[in-house]
Amino acid sequence: MKRGRKSGELRHQHERPEGSWDELLAPGGAVDAPRGETAIVIYVGSARCRAVYRGEEIDVVVPSGIAVKQKSMLAVGDRIVVAGEAGAWRLESILPRRSALARPDPLRPHMQRLIAANIDVVVHVVSVKAPPLRPRLIDRYLIAIMRGGARPVICVNKIDLLDDEDRREELARLDVYRALEVPVIACSTRTGEGLDALRAEAEGMTTALVGHSGVGKSSILNAIDQRLQLATNTLHRRGTGRHTTTASTLYDFGGGTYLIDTPGIREFGLWDLDRASLRDYFPEFEEPAEYCRFTDCTHVHEPDCEVKERLERREINAARYETYLRLYEDLA
Ligand code: GDP
Ligand code: ZN
Repeated sequence: MKRGRKSGELRHQHERPEGSWDELLAPGGAVDAPRGETAIVIYVGSARCRAVYRGEEIDVVVPSGIAVKQKSMLAVGDRIVVAGEAGAWRLESILPRRSALARPDPLRPHMQRLIAANIDVVVHVVSVKAPPLRPRLIDRYLIAIMRGGARPVICVNKIDLLDDEDRREELARLDVYRALEVPVIACSTRTGEGLDALRAEAEGMTTALVGHSGVGKSSILNAIDQRLQLATNTLHRRGTGRHTTTASTLYDFGGGTYLIDTPGIREFGLWDLDRASLRDYFPEFEEPAEYCRFTDCTHVHEPDCEVKERLERREINAARYETYLRLYEDLA
């Protein structure tokens, strides 16, 4: 396995008959050039979806064969070709995706469900105190985000619940991510802290908010809404309450800014990932790996492993290495 691949680059050796990354990114395999205009999916229901087409929201019937034909389900953020006419639109095809975020189906864990497509940024929202910060959970999210081809951002919400000292301590636990150039934004929907920084990350991008339920995703969206609504006033919004969100919804803020609300996600599957490519998601191992005795060192059991030596010297974050070990075992 060649080392030094950029994180997030999507290339895999194994072709899986069902639901491989390659298929997720290029539904239907061969790519048809879109004839005419495309619509962007903002909500996926059963047998139909809602999309924005020529600036208008439309209902689109999703023919039952399409999931089979394209070997993929539809997701918010998908660009689709529609046919028909006002009041009777029908989905023709799903265009290739530039990125995707997927998780295991809660009922059929070997199946992947798309959470969103064509996202640029994924904000992993975590909170302090309620629920408490558990940095270890962040690693799986990061891997899933990078694999899907989006840029990860960590948002630490409810920062208002901490005094100065606790705040410093908690945020210091995330320094390892800053070192990996993942932005860490401390945020509070109560005090408004961090909202501008989040807004700057999202401006002109398609951004999905992910995280456990209760961390404050909906509150953050509402807080950002007010600001962007004032600025653009072109927010598309569905009537259903956000707190009952069980499916992802895309909000079009105009100016190329899209925000996607996702259901609370308890876990990301690392399906179709092998041990050798796991290393690609730990870029901090890359430079030390050049000094390991074996060029294909897994940094698990080999002698003269520079990664393990740096771990002992505390130059590599112990929690991150621990995650690596655990995932390595899981991927056996
Ligand atoms: P979601 O499930 O991730 O969408 O979380 P919600 O937005 O529904 O928020 C869960 C709870 O956290 C609610 O009771 C919110 O009022 C509360 N909450 C959200 N943001 C903050 C914050 O910045 N500070 C504090 N103290 N509470 C917050
Ligand atoms: Zn090594």
